[in-house]
Amino acid sequence: MSALILVNGEVRDDCIQAGIEALRQGAPAIDAAEIVAREVESDVKDHSVGFSGLPNILGEVELDASIMDGATLASGAVSALKGYLHPISVARQVMERLPHVLLSDAGAARFAAEIKAEAGDLLDDEAKAIYLKRLNAVGKDWGLEIRDWSEIPNLQSLISSLKIPLSELVVRAMRYHEGGDTMNVIVRDATGHIVSAVTTSGVAWKYPGRIGDSPNIGAGNYADDRYGAAACTGVGELTIRHGTCIRAVLGMSHGRDIDQAGRETIHDLRRLSDPINAWIRLLLIDRNGKVGGYCTRAGATLKVQTTEHDAPEIATCEHVI
Ligand code: ASP
Repeated sequence: MSALILVNGEVRDDCIQAGIEALRQGAPAIDAAEIVAREVESDVKDHSVGFSGLPNILGEVELDASIMDGATLASGAVSALKGYLHPISVARQVMERLPHVLLSDAGAARFAAEIKAEAGDLLDDEAKAIYLKRLNAVGKDWGLEIRDWSEIPNLQSLISSLKIPLSELVVRAMRYHEGGDTMNVIVRDATGHIVSAVTTSGVAWKYPGRIGDSPNIGAGNYADDRYGAAACTGVGELTIRHGTCIRAVLGMSHGRDIDQAGRETIHDLRRLSDPINAWIRLLLIDRNGKVGGYCTRAGATLKVQTTEHDAPEIATCEHVI
């Protein structure tokens, strides 16, 4: 069977093809997954992943990422990583160099510096403008007004002097959550070995230090060559509570076919209520390379490309009621 790459439908075709080309040249699945994820992390138009990702409530971009090797269940992840352009590569190095799975915040940044990961400013003008517009809209009742990015270093003291409860500011800003497009990539090589990777700037306007599902193995990412792999986008608080990705893979391990496993997992997840905006898209692959997408809200898509094809196919995920 030919190797393939499965991603969420927002991923640009050329990002997928960078991974396909690597597979054609004989790269292992883990390299192809990292290549695709890094391409998306560099995409200035994508405001939910890597560079130009939307920041937390204080204007800081905090990145989450994970990678999992389906042959060994080895995994690496980082959360709330600030100031580094490719969290997926840092996550991979956590897996390969440390006796740990997940590093967060200052520890993740310390490790990123130690391995000489590429540091950089994560915000572009467009992301800054989107952030400021909503911050000012939700903060105006308290008299908060930030006209220029140069005022951001003083934001915390301004919030304190205006006696704004930060948690309330977060709740108001996130009420308008439109959903993000965290990046999922699942690669299956020609021998049936699977690697899954997830990278994101998380939900925008989040409370500082909030960690989503993307770096949580079992919630936003899971791979086991014996059964298949799963990765999620959407409101991570739901899939953390539900253990969505491991449930879907366990469904296949218990003999469900991919569609049964996907439908049952999403159907079960719908029991959870979410105060902001409950939506989830689950991408699945089974051990034979069959792919599927399942979601709580109509319209989500996936893309899949094999090494034998010149371009990815786009498909609509099944809306599970
Ligand atoms: N799942 C991501 C998180 O909760 C966000 C997203 O996919 O939009 O951080």
